[in-house]
Amino acid sequence: ALTTHHLSRSFGPVQAVHDVSLHVEAGETLALLGPSGCGKSTVLRLVAGLERPDAGRVEVGGRDVTGRPPETRHLGLVFQDYALFPHLSVLDNVAYGPRMRGVARAGAYEQAREALALVNLSELEARRPAQLSGGQAQRVALARALATRSPLLLLDEPLSNLDERLRAELRSDLHDLFDRVGAGVLLVTHDQREALALAGRVAIMRAGRLVQTGTAREVFARPDTAWVAAFLGWAN
Ligand code: ATP
Ligand code: MG
Repeated sequence: ALTTHHLSRSFGPVQAVHDVSLHVEAGETLALLGPSGCGKSTVLRLVAGLERPDAGRVEVGGRDVTGRPPETRHLGLVFQDYALFPHLSVLDNVAYGPRMRGVARAGAYEQAREALALVNLSELEARRPAQLSGGQAQRVALARALATRSPLLLLDEPLSNLDERLRAELRSDLHDLFDRVGAGVLLVTHDQREALALAGRVAIMRAGRLVQTGTAREVFARPDTAWVAAFLGWAN
């Protein structure tokens, strides 16, 4: 579903992403893990076309989309801050996803209702974002991405604003959801339980570079370096 080839991007003196090559198969979830500021969100923004790489290429669905605008990539995106439109209802916010992809109005609302049902929010469709809890707002953002029915989902800390109980609940819901949707998922998280529960493979990032990639079990059981071990909490 997604391949990046040697992606790099700097902001002034900061090399945010350096030579990142990764691959997400259709139906697979890859978790991107690493400390704050290591470049995870920048990788997602490069893949989504919201940021231009200084070097490297992005392939989505087998097509080279490097340097092409965001609309050319068929993907669903949940930002770290999940920005919803405050003046739109929940349903309109979710329908915006497919509408942006050029789905006609009736179809977009059908897909929106279906996605809201998937995240158990159907009964709140008429509310505005200000009338939702943080966790509900986050599920609306997730529904907006799911409603696009894209073969590729980019999720930046999609559960970060939920309390532990809801987090655990959504963790297992998401697992089923990803299976059912059959999408490739690139998931940024700082929660190792989330990575283990949802991702077949994980990629560990440090200061803009990928330092270890493998199956979740492999990486957690056999960190390549002392740094990865310490990051995963082994050394403590
Ligand atoms: P977090 O876990 O805190 O969300 P992250 O891994 O997502 O961190 P990024 O947001 O990708 O990190 O940022 C990587 C680096 O690039 C940081 O040093 C950040 O300050 C810098 N950076 C990101 N976007 C910009 C920008 N638009 N302008 C300048 N610097 C930026
Ligand atoms: Mg980030």
